[in-house]
Amino acid sequence: MKVLKFGGTSVGSVENMAHVKDIINDGAPKVVVLSAMSGTTNTLVAIAQMIAIGKSAQAIEEINDLEFKYLKTVDQLLQNAVLNDHTKVYVRERFNTLRALCDAHFSIEIENTILAQGELLSTFMFNNYLKQEGLLSTLLPALNFMRTDVLHDPDLPAIKLAFEKELEQVEPANIYITQGFICLDHQGKISNLQRGGSDYTATILGAVIHAEEVQIWTDIDGMHNNDPRCVEGTHPIANLSFDEAAELAYFGAKILHPQTVLPVRADNIPLRLKNTMDPEAYGTLISESTSENGVKAIAAKDGITAIKIKSGRMLQAHGFLKKVFEIFEYYETSIDMITTSEVAVSLTIDDTKNLDKILVDLEKIATIEVDHNQSIVCLVGHAIVNHYDTYKLFQILHDVKIRMISYGGSNNNISLLINTTDKVETLQKLNAYVFELAVV
Ligand code: ADP
Ligand code: ASP
Ligand code: MG
Repeated sequence: MKVLKFGGTSVGSVENMAHVKDIINDGAPKVVVLSAMSGTTNTLVAIAQMIAIGKSAQAIEEINDLEFKYLKTVDQLLQNAVLNDHTKVYVRERFNTLRALCDAHFSIEIENTILAQGELLSTFMFNNYLKQEGLLSTLLPALNFMRTDVLHDPDLPAIKLAFEKELEQVEPANIYITQGFICLDHQGKISNLQRGGSDYTATILGAVIHAEEVQIWTDIDGMHNNDPRCVEGTHPIANLSFDEAAELAYFGAKILHPQTVLPVRADNIPLRLKNTMDPEAYGTLISESTSENGVKAIAAKDGITAIKIKSGRMLQAHGFLKKVFEIFEYYETSIDMITTSEVAVSLTIDDTKNLDKILVDLEKIATIEVDHNQSIVCLVGHAIVNHYDTYKLFQILHDVKIRMISYGGSNNNISLLINTTDKVETLQKLNAYVFELAVV
Protein backbone atom coordinates (compact mmCIF):
# COMPACT_ATOMS: atom_id res chain seq x y z
CA MET A 1 0.00 0.00 0.00
CA LYS A 2 1.21 3.54 -0.78
CA VAL A 3 0.64 6.75 1.16
CA LEU A 4 -0.04 9.82 -0.98
CA LYS A 5 -0.09 13.33 0.48
CA PHE A 6 -1.61 16.28 -1.37
CA GLY A 7 -0.75 19.80 -0.24
CA GLY A 8 -2.73 23.03 0.00
CA THR A 9 -2.58 24.02 -3.68
CA SER A 10 -3.41 20.48 -4.78
CA VAL A 11 -6.75 20.67 -2.92
CA GLY A 12 -7.00 24.47 -3.21
CA SER A 13 -9.67 24.61 -5.91
CA VAL A 14 -12.37 22.42 -7.40
CA GLU A 15 -10.29 22.10 -10.56
CA ASN A 16 -7.26 20.86 -8.64
CA MET A 17 -9.35 18.47 -6.55
CA ALA A 18 -10.42 16.92 -9.86
CA HIS A 19 -6.71 16.43 -10.75
CA VAL A 20 -6.16 14.75 -7.39
CA LYS A 21 -9.12 12.45 -7.99
CA ASP A 22 -7.65 11.42 -11.38
CA ILE A 23 -4.25 10.77 -9.81
CA ILE A 24 -5.57 8.53 -7.05
CA ASN A 25 -8.14 6.74 -9.23
CA ASP A 26 -5.87 3.93 -10.43
CA GLY A 27 -7.51 1.04 -8.61
CA ALA A 28 -4.62 0.51 -6.17
CA PRO A 29 -5.39 0.65 -2.43
CA LYS A 30 -3.90 3.70 -0.75
CA VAL A 31 -3.93 6.08 2.19
CA VAL A 32 -4.45 9.70 1.09
CA VAL A 33 -3.34 12.47 3.42
CA LEU A 34 -4.73 15.94 2.70
CA SER A 35 -3.73 19.44 3.82
CA ALA A 36 -6.17 22.28 4.27
CA MET A 37 -7.11 24.20 1.09
CA SER A 38 -4.34 26.73 0.36
CA GLY A 39 -4.66 29.93 2.35
CA THR A 40 -6.99 28.42 4.93
CA THR A 41 -4.43 27.72 7.66
CA ASN A 42 -3.00 31.24 7.26
CA THR A 43 -6.52 32.67 7.69
CA LEU A 44 -7.10 30.45 10.73
CA VAL A 45 -3.80 31.66 12.25
CA ALA A 46 -4.96 35.25 11.71
CA ILE A 47 -8.35 34.46 13.31
CA ALA A 48 -6.62 32.91 16.33
CA GLN A 49 -4.44 36.02 16.68
CA MET A 50 -7.51 38.26 16.60
CA ILE A 51 -9.16 36.21 19.33
CA ALA A 52 -5.96 36.27 21.38
CA ILE A 53 -5.94 40.07 21.43
CA GLY A 54 -9.67 40.34 22.13
CA LYS A 55 -10.74 41.36 18.61
CA SER A 56 -13.65 38.88 18.54
CA ALA A 57 -15.88 40.96 16.26
CA GLN A 58 -13.14 41.10 13.63
CA ALA A 59 -12.55 37.36 14.05
CA ILE A 60 -16.28 36.64 13.52
CA GLU A 61 -16.18 38.67 10.31
CA GLU A 62 -13.21 36.66 9.00
CA ILE A 63 -14.94 33.40 9.98
CA ASN A 64 -18.13 34.42 8.17
CA ASP A 65 -16.18 35.34 5.02
CA LEU A 66 -14.34 32.03 5.07
CA GLU A 67 -17.59 30.11 5.62
CA PHE A 68 -19.12 31.86 2.63
CA LYS A 69 -16.16 30.80 0.45
CA TYR A 70 -16.44 27.19 1.63
CA LEU A 71 -20.17 26.98 1.00
CA LYS A 72 -19.57 28.31 -2.50
CA THR A 73 -16.85 25.70 -3.09
CA VAL A 74 -19.21 22.95 -1.90
CA ASP A 75 -21.75 24.08 -4.51
CA GLN A 76 -19.11 23.97 -7.25
CA LEU A 77 -17.78 20.60 -6.12
CA LEU A 78 -20.92 18.66 -5.28
CA GLN A 79 -23.87 18.55 -7.67
CA ASN A 80 -25.30 15.48 -5.93
CA ALA A 81 -28.02 17.01 -3.71
CA VAL A 82 -27.68 14.52 -0.84
CA LEU A 83 -23.88 14.83 -0.67
CA ASN A 84 -24.12 18.61 -1.10
CA ASP A 85 -26.53 18.88 1.88
CA HIS A 86 -24.52 16.44 3.98
CA THR A 87 -21.32 18.44 3.35
CA LYS A 88 -22.92 21.81 4.05
CA VAL A 89 -24.24 20.59 7.38
CA TYR A 90 -20.67 19.59 8.28
CA VAL A 91 -19.15 22.85 7.01
CA ARG A 92 -21.65 24.89 9.08
CA GLU A 93 -20.80 22.77 12.14
CA ARG A 94 -17.09 23.56 11.74
CA PHE A 95 -17.76 27.27 11.39
CA ASN A 96 -20.16 27.23 14.36
CA THR A 97 -17.32 25.67 16.35
CA LEU A 98 -15.04 28.50 15.24
CA ARG A 99 -17.58 31.17 16.17
CA ALA A 100 -18.10 29.58 19.60
CA LEU A 101 -14.33 29.74 20.21
CA CYS A 102 -14.33 33.53 19.72
CA ASP A 103 -15.77 34.00 23.20
CA ALA A 104 -13.67 31.37 24.95
CA HIS A 105 -10.72 32.23 27.18
CA PHE A 106 -7.78 32.05 24.74
CA SER A 107 -5.30 29.21 25.21
CA ILE A 108 -2.94 27.14 23.10
CA GLU A 109 -5.62 24.43 22.99
CA ILE A 110 -8.13 26.89 21.55
CA GLU A 111 -5.58 27.99 18.99
CA ASN A 112 -4.86 24.40 17.99
CA THR A 113 -8.58 23.65 17.72
CA ILE A 114 -8.96 26.64 15.40
CA LEU A 115 -6.00 25.53 13.24
CA ALA A 116 -7.38 22.00 12.97
CA GLN A 117 -10.54 23.07 11.15
CA GLY A 118 -8.83 23.47 7.74
CA GLU A 119 -7.86 19.82 7.39
CA LEU A 120 -11.18 18.65 8.84
CA LEU A 121 -13.00 20.66 6.16
CA SER A 122 -10.87 19.68 3.15
CA THR A 123 -10.95 15.95 3.90
CA PHE A 124 -14.72 15.86 4.51
CA MET A 125 -15.41 17.72 1.28
CA PHE A 126 -12.97 15.64 -0.75
CA ASN A 127 -14.26 12.34 0.61
CA ASN A 128 -17.81 13.23 -0.42
CA TYR A 129 -16.52 14.38 -3.80
CA LEU A 130 -14.93 10.96 -4.36
CA LYS A 131 -18.23 9.31 -3.40
CA GLN A 132 -20.05 11.49 -5.91
CA GLU A 133 -17.54 10.42 -8.57
CA GLY A 134 -18.16 6.76 -7.74
CA LEU A 135 -14.86 5.98 -5.94
CA LEU A 136 -14.83 3.72 -2.91
CA SER A 137 -13.36 5.87 -0.14
CA THR A 138 -13.54 6.08 3.65
CA LEU A 139 -12.59 8.93 5.94
CA LEU A 140 -10.22 8.06 8.79
CA PRO A 141 -10.26 10.81 11.46
CA ALA A 142 -6.60 11.54 12.22
CA LEU A 143 -7.49 12.60 15.77
CA ASN A 144 -8.40 8.95 16.45
CA PHE A 145 -4.82 7.78 15.90
CA MET A 146 -2.23 10.55 15.38
CA ARG A 147 -0.48 11.01 18.75
CA THR A 148 2.59 12.85 19.97
CA ASP A 149 4.58 12.05 23.11
CA VAL A 150 5.84 14.25 25.95
CA LEU A 151 8.64 15.54 23.72
CA HIS A 152 6.11 16.43 20.96
CA ASP A 153 7.53 13.68 18.77
CA PRO A 154 5.19 11.25 17.00
CA ASP A 155 4.39 8.32 19.27
CA LEU A 156 4.84 5.64 16.61
CA PRO A 157 3.82 2.57 18.69
CA ALA A 158 0.64 4.33 19.90
CA ILE A 159 -0.16 5.53 16.36
CA LYS A 160 0.32 2.03 14.99
CA LEU A 161 -2.04 0.46 17.53
CA ALA A 162 -4.70 3.15 17.14
CA PHE A 163 -4.44 3.18 13.35
CA GLU A 164 -4.90 -0.59 13.13
CA LYS A 165 -7.90 -0.36 15.49
CA GLU A 166 -9.38 2.43 13.38
CA LEU A 167 -9.02 0.35 10.20
CA GLU A 168 -10.87 -2.55 11.86
CA GLN A 169 -13.76 -0.28 12.78
CA VAL A 170 -14.39 1.52 9.51
CA GLU A 171 -15.95 0.26 6.32
CA PRO A 172 -13.18 -1.31 4.22
CA ALA A 173 -12.35 0.82 1.20
CA ASN A 174 -9.86 1.17 -1.57
CA ILE A 175 -8.97 4.74 -0.67
CA TYR A 176 -8.57 5.88 2.93
CA ILE A 177 -8.63 9.66 3.30
CA THR A 178 -7.18 11.30 6.39
CA GLN A 179 -6.14 14.72 7.68
CA GLY A 180 -2.51 15.78 7.64
CA PHE A 181 -1.01 18.08 10.27
CA ILE A 182 -3.45 17.47 13.17
CA CYS A 183 -2.94 15.13 16.12
CA LEU A 184 -3.55 14.74 19.83
CA ASP A 185 -0.74 15.37 22.29
CA HIS A 186 0.27 13.05 25.15
CA GLN A 187 -2.50 14.52 27.32
CA GLY A 188 -5.12 13.90 24.65
CA LYS A 189 -5.36 17.59 23.77
CA ILE A 190 -5.74 18.70 20.18
CA SER A 191 -2.39 19.65 18.69
CA ASN A 192 -0.49 19.65 15.40
CA LEU A 193 2.84 18.77 13.80
CA GLN A 194 3.73 22.44 13.15
CA ARG A 195 3.20 24.38 9.93
CA GLY A 196 3.63 22.25 6.84
CA GLY A 197 3.13 19.16 9.01
CA SER A 198 0.97 17.19 6.56
CA ASP A 199 4.18 15.95 4.90
CA TYR A 200 5.22 14.56 8.27
CA THR A 201 1.83 12.88 8.79
CA ALA A 202 2.34 11.09 5.47
CA THR A 203 5.76 9.67 6.32
CA ILE A 204 4.69 8.77 9.87
CA LEU A 205 1.77 6.78 8.46
CA GLY A 206 4.07 5.34 5.80
CA ALA A 207 6.35 4.01 8.54
CA VAL A 208 3.40 2.75 10.60
CA ILE A 209 1.90 0.67 7.76
CA HIS A 210 5.31 -0.19 6.22
CA ALA A 211 4.17 1.45 3.00
CA GLU A 212 5.76 0.40 -0.24
CA GLU A 213 6.27 4.13 -1.01
CA VAL A 214 5.25 7.57 0.28
CA GLN A 215 4.45 10.27 -2.26
CA ILE A 216 4.29 14.00 -1.54
CA TRP A 217 2.21 15.70 -4.25
CA THR A 218 2.62 19.47 -4.44
CA ASP A 219 2.72 22.42 -6.85
CA ILE A 220 6.25 21.92 -8.18
CA ASP A 221 8.05 19.08 -9.98
CA GLY A 222 10.21 17.86 -7.11
CA MET A 223 13.07 19.14 -4.96
CA HIS A 224 14.85 21.90 -6.89
CA ASN A 225 18.58 22.59 -6.69
CA ASN A 226 17.93 26.00 -5.11
CA ASP A 227 15.01 27.95 -3.64
CA PRO A 228 12.76 28.77 -6.63
CA ARG A 229 11.24 31.65 -4.66
CA CYS A 230 14.62 33.43 -4.66
CA VAL A 231 16.53 32.13 -7.68
CA GLU A 232 15.55 31.92 -11.35
CA GLY A 233 16.35 28.89 -13.49
CA THR A 234 16.39 26.26 -10.75
CA HIS A 235 15.73 22.68 -11.80
CA PRO A 236 14.42 19.51 -10.12
CA ILE A 237 16.86 16.91 -8.81
CA ALA A 238 15.91 13.41 -9.94
CA ASN A 239 17.52 11.48 -7.08
CA LEU A 240 18.46 12.32 -3.52
CA SER A 241 19.57 10.15 -0.65
CA PHE A 242 17.60 10.23 2.61
CA ASP A 243 20.48 12.09 4.25
CA GLU A 244 20.65 14.75 1.54
CA ALA A 245 16.88 15.29 1.56
CA ALA A 246 16.78 15.41 5.36
CA GLU A 247 19.44 18.15 5.40
CA LEU A 248 17.64 20.18 2.74
CA ALA A 249 14.29 19.87 4.51
CA TYR A 250 15.81 20.77 7.87
CA PHE A 251 17.69 23.72 6.40
CA GLY A 252 14.71 25.40 4.79
CA ALA A 253 13.66 23.70 1.54
CA LYS A 254 9.98 24.46 2.08
CA ILE A 255 8.78 21.66 -0.16
CA LEU A 256 9.27 19.31 2.81
CA HIS A 257 8.45 19.81 6.49
CA PRO A 258 11.80 19.66 8.36
CA GLN A 259 11.17 16.22 9.91
CA THR A 260 9.51 14.55 6.92
CA VAL A 261 12.36 12.26 5.96
CA LEU A 262 13.04 10.77 9.40
CA PRO A 263 10.25 8.14 9.65
CA VAL A 264 10.84 6.76 6.15
CA ARG A 265 14.63 6.84 6.41
CA ALA A 266 14.46 4.59 9.44
CA ASP A 267 12.52 1.96 7.44
CA ASN A 268 14.11 2.57 4.03
CA ILE A 269 10.75 3.45 2.45
CA PRO A 270 11.17 5.39 -0.83
CA LEU A 271 9.83 8.96 -0.72
CA ARG A 272 8.74 10.47 -4.01
CA LEU A 273 8.00 14.16 -4.65
CA LYS A 274 5.50 14.74 -7.46
CA ASN A 275 3.70 17.65 -9.13
CA THR A 276 -0.12 17.48 -9.04
CA MET A 277 -0.27 19.93 -11.95
CA ASP A 278 2.15 17.84 -14.06
CA PRO A 279 1.85 14.21 -12.95
CA GLU A 280 3.98 12.94 -15.84
CA ALA A 281 7.04 14.87 -14.63
CA TYR A 282 9.51 12.53 -12.89
CA GLY A 283 9.83 14.65 -9.73
CA THR A 284 12.34 13.54 -7.12
CA LEU A 285 12.96 10.08 -5.73
CA ILE A 286 14.45 10.05 -2.24
CA SER A 287 15.92 6.69 -1.32
CA GLU A 288 18.87 5.04 0.33
CA SER A 289 21.12 5.09 -2.70
CA THR A 290 23.31 8.05 -3.50
CA SER A 291 24.27 8.92 -7.00
CA GLU A 292 26.85 11.41 -8.27
CA ASN A 293 29.12 13.44 -5.99
CA GLY A 294 29.31 17.22 -5.65
CA VAL A 295 26.90 19.97 -4.62
CA LYS A 296 23.35 18.99 -5.54
CA ALA A 297 21.26 21.66 -3.88
CA ILE A 298 21.26 24.82 -1.81
CA ALA A 299 18.66 25.83 0.79
CA ALA A 300 18.33 28.56 3.40
CA LYS A 301 16.75 28.66 6.82
CA ASP A 302 15.75 32.01 8.35
CA GLY A 303 15.06 32.99 11.94
CA ILE A 304 18.50 32.04 13.20
CA THR A 305 20.21 33.66 16.20
CA ALA A 306 24.01 33.56 16.51
CA ILE A 307 25.72 33.68 19.91
CA LYS A 308 29.44 34.42 20.29
CA ILE A 309 30.85 33.19 23.59
CA LYS A 310 34.29 34.65 24.36
CA SER A 311 36.45 33.81 27.29
CA GLY A 312 40.10 34.08 28.24
CA ARG A 313 39.44 30.98 30.29
CA MET A 314 39.14 28.92 27.09
CA LEU A 315 42.83 29.42 26.33
CA GLN A 316 44.52 26.03 26.69
CA ALA A 317 41.82 25.00 29.16
CA HIS A 318 39.63 21.92 28.94
CA GLY A 319 36.02 21.59 29.99
CA PHE A 320 34.89 25.02 28.80
CA LEU A 321 32.80 23.74 25.90
CA LYS A 322 31.20 21.18 28.20
CA LYS A 323 29.97 23.98 30.45
CA VAL A 324 28.60 25.86 27.44
CA PHE A 325 26.77 22.83 26.07
CA GLU A 326 25.33 21.97 29.47
CA ILE A 327 23.61 25.36 29.58
CA PHE A 328 21.94 24.74 26.20
CA GLU A 329 21.02 21.22 27.22
CA TYR A 330 19.50 22.43 30.49
CA TYR A 331 17.22 24.82 28.58
CA GLU A 332 16.37 22.15 25.96
CA THR A 333 17.68 24.31 23.15
CA SER A 334 19.37 22.61 20.25
CA ILE A 335 22.37 24.06 18.48
CA ASP A 336 22.54 24.01 14.66
CA MET A 337 25.97 25.39 13.71
CA ILE A 338 29.12 25.75 15.72
CA THR A 339 32.60 27.16 15.03
CA THR A 340 35.44 27.59 17.49
CA SER A 341 38.69 29.47 17.89
CA GLU A 342 41.16 29.36 20.76
CA VAL A 343 39.35 32.08 22.71
CA ALA A 344 35.79 32.04 21.42
CA VAL A 345 33.01 29.80 20.24
CA SER A 346 30.15 30.88 17.98
CA LEU A 347 26.99 28.87 17.68
CA THR A 348 23.48 29.22 16.33
CA ILE A 349 20.02 28.37 17.59
CA ASP A 350 16.59 28.77 16.03
CA ASP A 351 14.48 28.38 19.16
CA THR A 352 14.87 31.58 21.22
CA LYS A 353 12.17 30.71 23.79
CA ASN A 354 14.77 30.37 26.55
CA LEU A 355 17.41 32.72 25.14
CA ASP A 356 17.21 35.24 28.01
CA LYS A 357 17.84 32.54 30.61
CA ILE A 358 20.62 30.99 28.49
CA LEU A 359 22.35 34.38 28.25
CA VAL A 360 22.16 34.94 32.02
CA ASP A 361 23.93 31.61 32.59
CA LEU A 362 26.49 32.15 29.80
CA GLU A 363 27.38 35.60 31.11
CA LYS A 364 28.54 33.95 34.34
CA ILE A 365 31.38 32.26 32.42
CA ALA A 366 32.07 34.44 29.37
CA THR A 367 31.46 37.62 27.38
CA ILE A 368 28.51 37.25 25.02
CA GLU A 369 27.51 38.83 21.70
CA VAL A 370 24.17 38.04 20.11
CA ASP A 371 23.15 38.57 16.46
CA HIS A 372 19.52 38.13 15.47
CA ASN A 373 18.00 37.91 11.96
CA GLN A 374 20.57 35.48 10.62
CA SER A 375 20.09 32.78 7.97
CA ILE A 376 21.87 29.49 7.48
CA VAL A 377 22.63 28.76 3.84
CA CYS A 378 23.25 25.09 3.41
CA LEU A 379 24.92 23.36 0.46
CA VAL A 380 24.12 19.68 0.25
CA GLY A 381 25.41 16.80 -1.83
CA HIS A 382 27.25 13.53 -1.59
CA ALA A 383 30.91 13.89 -0.51
CA ILE A 384 30.95 17.62 -1.28
CA VAL A 385 33.67 18.33 1.22
CA ASN A 386 36.12 16.32 -0.93
CA HIS A 387 34.78 17.29 -4.34
CA TYR A 388 37.16 19.05 -6.75
CA ASP A 389 34.52 21.63 -7.71
CA THR A 390 33.49 22.70 -4.22
CA TYR A 391 36.08 25.46 -3.91
CA LYS A 392 33.98 27.55 -6.31
CA LEU A 393 31.45 28.33 -3.63
CA PHE A 394 34.02 30.30 -1.66
CA GLN A 395 33.90 33.07 -4.26
CA ILE A 396 30.88 34.16 -2.23
CA LEU A 397 33.36 35.59 0.28
CA HIS A 398 33.86 38.49 -2.19
CA ASP A 399 30.19 39.33 -2.21
CA VAL A 400 28.62 39.06 1.23
CA LYS A 401 29.73 39.08 4.82
CA ILE A 402 29.89 35.52 6.12
CA ARG A 403 29.45 35.30 9.89
CA MET A 404 30.28 31.59 10.25
CA ILE A 405 31.30 28.66 8.03
CA SER A 406 30.79 25.04 8.93
CA TYR A 407 32.90 22.76 6.76
CA GLY A 408 33.81 19.18 7.43
CA GLY A 409 31.19 18.47 10.10
CA SER A 410 29.78 15.96 7.65
CA ASN A 411 30.92 15.07 4.15
CA ASN A 412 27.55 16.02 2.75
CA ASN A 413 26.95 19.52 4.06
CA ILE A 414 28.65 22.90 4.07
CA SER A 415 26.80 25.68 5.90
CA LEU A 416 27.30 29.43 5.86
CA LEU A 417 25.76 31.89 8.30
CA ILE A 418 24.78 35.27 6.85
CA ASN A 419 22.52 38.21 7.60
CA THR A 420 19.02 37.43 6.39
CA THR A 421 19.09 40.66 4.37
CA ASP A 422 21.87 39.08 2.24
CA LYS A 423 20.01 35.80 1.70
CA VAL A 424 18.60 36.33 -1.79
CA GLU A 425 21.90 37.68 -3.13
CA THR A 426 23.80 34.81 -1.52
CA LEU A 427 21.50 32.15 -3.01
CA GLN A 428 21.67 33.76 -6.45
CA LYS A 429 25.46 34.18 -6.45
CA LEU A 430 26.06 30.67 -5.11
CA ASN A 431 23.79 29.35 -7.83
CA ALA A 432 25.98 31.02 -10.42
CA TYR A 433 29.27 29.93 -8.84
CA VAL A 434 28.31 26.35 -8.11
CA PHE A 435 25.87 25.36 -10.86
CA GLU A 436 26.34 27.74 -13.78
CA LEU A 437 29.91 28.91 -14.24
CA ALA A 438 32.46 26.72 -15.96
CA VAL A 439 35.42 25.69 -13.81
CA VAL A 440 38.03 28.46 -13.88
P1 ADP B 1 2.24 22.20 -0.17
O1 ADP B 1 1.16 23.17 0.13
O2 ADP B 1 1.92 21.29 -1.33
O3 ADP B 1 2.73 21.48 1.04
P2 ADP B 1 4.51 23.99 -0.01
O4 ADP B 1 4.21 25.40 -0.35
O5 ADP B 1 4.62 23.65 1.43
O6 ADP B 1 3.44 23.08 -0.76
O7 ADP B 1 5.87 23.52 -0.72
C1 ADP B 1 6.04 23.71 -2.12
C2 ADP B 1 6.78 25.01 -2.37
O8 ADP B 1 8.09 24.94 -1.78
C3 ADP B 1 7.08 25.30 -3.82
O9 ADP B 1 6.00 25.94 -4.46
C4 ADP B 1 8.33 26.16 -3.75
O10 ADP B 1 8.04 27.53 -3.90
C5 ADP B 1 8.86 25.96 -2.34
N1 ADP B 1 10.28 25.55 -2.31
C6 ADP B 1 11.24 26.11 -1.54
N2 ADP B 1 12.43 25.51 -1.74
C7 ADP B 1 12.21 24.55 -2.67
C8 ADP B 1 13.06 23.60 -3.30
N3 ADP B 1 14.36 23.50 -3.03
N4 ADP B 1 12.50 22.78 -4.22
C9 ADP B 1 11.20 22.84 -4.53
N5 ADP B 1 10.34 23.72 -3.96
C10 ADP B 1 10.84 24.56 -3.04
N1 ASP C 1 -2.33 23.20 6.62
C1 ASP C 1 -1.12 23.17 7.39
C2 ASP C 1 -0.26 24.39 7.05
O1 ASP C 1 -0.64 25.20 6.21
C3 ASP C 1 -0.35 21.90 7.21
C4 ASP C 1 0.17 21.64 5.82
O2 ASP C 1 -0.25 22.30 4.87
O3 ASP C 1 1.00 20.77 5.67
O4 ASP C 1 0.76 24.55 7.65
MG1 MG D 1 3.99 22.08 2.59
